[in-house]
Amino acid sequence: MDFFNKIGDSIVNATQEVGEKAKGMTDIAKLQYEMKSKEDFLNKQYQEIGKMFYEANKSEAPEEYAQVFEEVEAAAVKISELQEEIASLKGGKACPKCGAIVSSAASFCSECGTKLNDIFEED
Ligand SMILES: [Zn+2]
Repeated sequence: MDFFNKIGDSIVNATQEVGEKAKGMTDIAKLQYEMKSKEDFLNKQYQEIGKMFYEANKSEAPEEYAQVFEEVEAAAVKISELQEEIASLKGGKACPKCGAIVSSAASFCSECGTKLNDIFEED
């Protein structure tokens, strides 16, 4: 009887230990998840600040940012060129505001409602 009680106790102890380890891991996982969420949030905020700074200063780039601003501008131009190319391959045109591909005959963007005829004078 003693023997079985001892085995029983050690099984209970082992189970508790595993349970506590698992709980510890869960706590770590929770903290890691929370940390990751905060890091993602922080990165989004930095990105937003960068965009706001760029928008506010693009007409007159501060000297120390001139090169980065040029690269941003060049990338934006390239993106709109690529949107146009994709659109024409798909037989449509890209909305200059949101990039959605709409029919060449469309007067308004179906995604954002931008009037297109003013911009696409060749239509
Ligand atoms: Zn649009």
